[in-house]
Amino acid sequence: MSTPAVRTDRPPTVKLLINGQFVESASREWHDVVNPATQEVLAQVPFATPEEVAAAIASAKAAYASWRNTPIAARARIMLKLQALVREHMSRIARTLSAEQGKTLADAEGDVFRGLEVIEHACSVGSLQLGEFAENVAGGVDTYSLRQPIGVCVGISPFNFPAMIPLWMFPMAIVCGNTFVLKPSEQDPLTPMLLAELALQAGVPPGVLNIVHGGKAAVEALCTHPDVAAISFVGSTHVGTHVYDLGSRHGKRVQCMMGAKNHAVVLPDASKDQTLNALAGAAFGAAGQRCMAISVAVLVGEARKWIPDLVAKAKTLKVAVGTEKGADLGPLISKQARQRVVGLIEDGVREGAKLELDGRDVKVPGYEQGNFVGPTIFSGVKPDMKIYSQEIFGPVLCVMGAETLDEAIAIVNANPFGNGTGIFTQSGAAARKFQNEIDVGQVGINVPIPVPVPFFSFTGSRGSKLGDLGPYGKQVVQFYTQTKTVTARWFEDGVSSGGVNTTISLK
Ligand code: NAD
Repeated sequence: MSTPAVRTDRPPTVKLLINGQFVESASREWHDVVNPATQEVLAQVPFATPEEVAAAIASAKAAYASWRNTPIAARARIMLKLQALVREHMSRIARTLSAEQGKTLADAEGDVFRGLEVIEHACSVGSLQLGEFAENVAGGVDTYSLRQPIGVCVGISPFNFPAMIPLWMFPMAIVCGNTFVLKPSEQDPLTPMLLAELALQAGVPPGVLNIVHGGKAAVEALCTHPDVAAISFVGSTHVGTHVYDLGSRHGKRVQCMMGAKNHAVVLPDASKDQTLNALAGAAFGAAGQRCMAISVAVLVGEARKWIPDLVAKAKTLKVAVGTEKGADLGPLISKQARQRVVGLIEDGVREGAKLELDGRDVKVPGYEQGNFVGPTIFSGVKPDMKIYSQEIFGPVLCVMGAETLDEAIAIVNANPFGNGTGIFTQSGAAARKFQNEIDVGQVGINVPIPVPVPFFSFTGSRGSKLGDLGPYGKQVVQFYTQTKTVTARWFEDGVSSGGVNTTISLK
């Protein structure tokens, strides 16, 4: 998090979105939004006051009364317009995203594209939100269920996907008839603001989507407000656990998608070149700041001899400013993030892991102030080392060895996180055993980053997820709606009901 700043020559300020208006915050606390490659201050973001947070919720509550009854096709049509606008402005959004977050332009476009797919999914709300109907559950009696919106929903998003994750949240929430307050990461709020502009342009009515900025205080105010029905959080495990606990204690529906330590299990029969490419891309792409990045490779049997090839592959990656052609990975989000990653690499060395490739001293000409760390590989990693037990969230790959697939599965299942994993093999039987026995949400088979497309739901196990229902897919429609079951009987004029019935059965 950047430090509060008092300035006279102010850079542009990030606005709040309340009741359809982009408004200047009255806050006295402002943080710099910094380009992580150049340290240029791109904007200043306010930490909204308690009154502003309350105003955003009040605006969402007021808008809910009419939005919940807006015809389903009208809501879907706004999403159709929004997907067209996001597509049209893709490269502008990606450039802003790359400047404030640091990822390469190609990766920034991927970030927007994966969010765009969720908007496309939201366009099919007509079939997603259908209820059920059973005729004649008793004589002349029908039962049907409705999926109704739940009210004001809140989204709290992390810095690493400033387009995709806000788009996991508000399109599905509002298309189901809810209204929304988004609290994006204070580290890169410019991208979500662009998306909000497009949402208004697409026809999202005033109050249906609101945005406040801030940190702990804003999040806690949202999680405890009596008019908030549901909270969708994506971020680290320690913050997510707090949000889940606080929100649940205040009677909210909460889903928290949290931290990760994703293992790739590599069997010796795997296609070697494809696997090494996949490992290098998934471990170091986006500077390892993906919740689905591969951060541990478990090499099984003869595959343990592949470490020098893996190191050679990692050395081919180009560390550069995100806008440079051919860049494979950009800087880390902040100086603090860099310090933390470098500190963990030092811990790894101290604890006895073998540093096969050291990215700490990487130099990017012209960007000496950038928060760069190059691809880093440790071998001989043991479960009790900090580099293994903690999520590093940087371009650091820990390599472990195992004799057998059973041993590798046991390693993965004993890790505190269960977000994503992958197996690399040519054996269908081994892959099937892995898929069956592994306790991790997303499983890839020769696929390094198995983020599900939006008609499936993102999920997670153990320390990576709290709450039953995941973002997008069919599950999120359940999350953002409540079921009402109606049992109905209609009497024809002049037909007797057959007298008083004192039992609970329907005939
Ligand atoms: P973070 O937990 O620091 O921040 C997430 C959100 O919580 C931000 O909006 C932030 O302002 C807010 N926040 C920060 N500190 C808080 C506090 N003390 N109390 C209340 N709110 C607080 O996460 P981050 O660093 O922005 O993002 C990286 C993390 O997100 C990693 O752990 C990554 O694995 C995780 N992540 C998980 C998924 C997933 O789907 N499982 C996806 C993306 C990122």
